[in-house]
Amino acid sequence: MNFSDQVAIVTGSSSGIGQAAAIGMAEGGAKLVINYSKNAEAAEAVVASCKAAGGDAIAVQADVSKDANCKTLVEAAMDKWGRLDILVNNAGTTKFMNHDNLEGLDAADFEQVYALNLIGPYQMIKHARPFLKQADSPSVVNISSIAGVRGIGSSIAYVASKGALNSATLALARSLGPENIRVNAVCPGFVGTDWFRNAFGDEVFEKIFAAQKLNTPMARAGGPEDIKGPILFFANRMSAHVTGQLMVADAGLLLGMPFEIG
Ligand code: NAD
Repeated sequence: MNFSDQVAIVTGSSSGIGQAAAIGMAEGGAKLVINYSKNAEAAEAVVASCKAAGGDAIAVQADVSKDANCKTLVEAAMDKWGRLDILVNNAGTTKFMNHDNLEGLDAADFEQVYALNLIGPYQMIKHARPFLKQADSPSVVNISSIAGVRGIGSSIAYVASKGALNSATLALARSLGPENIRVNAVCPGFVGTDWFRNAFGDEVFEKIFAAQKLNTPMARAGGPEDIKGPILFFANRMSAHVTGQLMVADAGLLLGMPFEIG
């Protein structure tokens, strides 16, 4: 997909879905800001992959739950590349907690999850807006989740944060439409990334992976490469007529399994 002359920021792109999306845009010639919060080495490896893929990239540290850091991140893109076409709000967090354990989450947990999953994208869009509106086909892609559509996922705080991100996507698409800025969201189902490996270890990860296959009509458990295409579609000029859409990418998990009798 052609991204030549396009400049993109991908938050949380030193791993997983963000990494796949960044390298995918680099393959089309994009110039990227690879954002990381802690792992500079991993971010530099993604920068090297972007360059090897035919694009260009820099790594910038920023905690996107903090407004001042979001401003710095946008400024880094402008200082280096002088323009901004695409913002992918991918960084996310959770606290794993069974949904029936209401004592397991307190206000601070909600605030921490909301700070990154909802307020982070809002702050990024706010700071990016003056520059995006100067681009010929500006696009914001929020990485949400099936959690925000179906009410399933790692905790109620996470589910609610992604539901709120979906609602914000609709409102922002409407409010920024007159400036030609499109705002869409990709809502992945299960994706096999460090998200689960870091939380549960390899053995449990493999069990979750196998269970996902059993519970999707396509018998697929996704990886970052499966989410790359939907992100690149929304990011690219080819979807210039598309805004305010929530695209579920889940191999049919939302549909549920076929109904069987007997
Ligand atoms: P991941 O852990 O590889 O990616 C999350 C990224 O966010 C990491 O690179 C992490 O360093 C970064 N990050 C964390 N805190 C940050 C902060 N304060 N500032 C900047 N960056 C920060 O996992 P992933 O699965 O690739 O997740 C990416 C996105 O996809 C998240 O928004 C997540 O909610 C969403 N998602 C994941 C799945 C899944 O099954 N893995 C499903 C649906 C949605």
